[in-house]
Amino acid sequence: MKVIMLGAPGAGKGTQAKKIAEKYGIPHISTGDIFRANIKNNTELGKKAKMYMDKGELVPDSLTLDLIMDRFKEADCADGYVLDGFPRTIPQAEALDRALAENGEAVDHAINVEVADENIINRMSGRRACLSCGATYHIKYNPSRQEGICDTCGEKLILRDDDKPETVQNRLSVYHQQTQPLIDYYSKKGVLAEVDGTKDMEEVFRDIIAVLDK
Ligand code: AMP
Repeated sequence: MKVIMLGAPGAGKGTQAKKIAEKYGIPHISTGDIFRANIKNNTELGKKAKMYMDKGELVPDSLTLDLIMDRFKEADCADGYVLDGFPRTIPQAEALDRALAENGEAVDHAINVEVADENIINRMSGRRACLSCGATYHIKYNPSRQEGICDTCGEKLILRDDDKPETVQNRLSVYHQQTQPLIDYYSKKGVLAEVDGTKDMEEVFRDIIAVLDK
């Protein structure tokens, strides 16, 4: 099963993607996590990606596409995956479709987690991330058991630089310009489902399962 998560930054698609991965036994692939791991390890890719990420801009397709295509070749992708943060532009979606079509495959579901802009800025300021294992929390909607500490690996949680209010505004406008057109793209392909991301996290997940199990 190949699932794509769509939605504005902070809509909760990462949290839902992890839950889908766990339930269906497929890998959760987040291009943002891959970039952040590269930044942490100070790789050449990480250095290049950071310049864009810190401004709330998209990393160029030329850097993103090779990275994700290599990831698809790994053995754990044989039965599908849930993509979180990719594709983010029409050219990325077209590249994904072309790569899948080579094996007679296609995207099965694109799930749009809908949250209005006015809610986003509020939600982002409460977001906390573990840079060590990629886990994400929200101080109100999805708190860690111990404040400021990751449940999974015990590392310190932080407010990501790109979740700070001044960057969020730019990420939102980038989302509207470059990523929102994907909603129409997948709708035309007949694989789009929309869920209300303002509901409780578990309720949103139930709505998603209803789509995936149909
Ligand atoms: P995320 O964790 O998905 O919110 O991604 C954080 C940042 O990584 C984004 O604001 C972009 O700068 C960059 N990024 C992640 N995925 C992509 C992608 N598919 N294309 C371009 N840039 C990306």
